[in-house]
Amino acid sequence: KVKSLSDLPGVGQSILNKLIEAGYSSLEAVAVASPQDLSVAAGIPLTTAQRIIKEAREALDIRFKTALEVKKERINTKKITTGSQALDGLLGGGIETRTMTELFGEFGSGKTQLCHQLSVNVQLPLEKGGLGGKAVYIDTEGTFRWERIEAMSKAIGLEPDSAMNNIYYMRAINSDHQMAIVDDLQELISKDPAIKLIIVDSVTSHFRAEFPGRENLAVRQQKLNKHLHQLVRLAEMYDLAVIITNQVMARPDMFYGDPTVAVGGHTLYHVPGIRVQLKKSRGNKRIARIVDAPHLPEGEVVFAITEEGVRD
Ligand code: ADP
Ligand code: MG
Repeated sequence: KVKSLSDLPGVGQSILNKLIEAGYSSLEAVAVASPQDLSVAAGIPLTTAQRIIKEAREALDIRFKTALEVKKERINTKKITTGSQALDGLLGGGIETRTMTELFGEFGSGKTQLCHQLSVNVQLPLEKGGLGGKAVYIDTEGTFRWERIEAMSKAIGLEPDSAMNNIYYMRAINSDHQMAIVDDLQELISKDPAIKLIIVDSVTSHFRAEFPGRENLAVRQQKLNKHLHQLVRLAEMYDLAVIITNQVMARPDMFYGDPTVAVGGHTLYHVPGIRVQLKKSRGNKRIARIVDAPHLPEGEVVFAITEEGVRD
């Protein structure tokens, strides 16, 4: 069975080196490349590029499928419990694999706490609402706390040190770094297929700081879009869940409609996935609301953030 680029019939050592040098270091990267780009970047004939791309697609089973096949695949979509039955219910069972879920809301609405909780819960066995998997946590704001992982894992009966060992953590220093980390994720996931969850908390903060204002909007959208699509592709190819967070500002000057505005502008609306709005409520209560999910009914639920983690 073809497992990596070097297993493809048309790829010998010399072509393999050229592909890797050009940044096409995995089957996935080659499968979704355009023949022209690949040919130019790797310095190989167009016909060779076309052949390799075709082989990579066959190896990854990228082809037209019937709706019935799609149904069978989607039925196998797995879910990660959030720790709150109400929130799981809202999400149709939990956070889905093969999907990017955006958590957006004001400061303190619980985005980061939920990310911590899910990076622990993904480790639970299937029968307890996990995937028996590991998590990747990309932290752009420096708000990751191992103490929370420790507390949350203890609370659900996981051994805290092993739970922490199952979370790959990286602080992203700026937007270029953040994009580079995601570029390199394919390699990490191929080496450790137990990875079932990727978190980017927050996905927008660096982009917002580095490309402020209207005049930078086009560049920001373009970069962010590329980043987001890359994440969506990882979710689909490796059957894993992606969670991104997005801080929104309160707009007290607004009287009608939704008084919060997504900071990434409308960029995130164009990317497939599920959008969940989080709002502060009384005390430790939070409200979650689904926004434009393709297959979930709209609605909202209340959950709580406690010392032990996310609960009903
Ligand atoms: P966001 O990422 O949306 O800005 P957070 O996820 O950081 O918000 O949520 C912060 C809130 O989480 C705090 O205001 C507090 O209510 C709750 N919280 C954080 N740590 C704990 C804890 N150890 N015990 C209970 N609640 C906590
Ligand atoms: Mg946060």
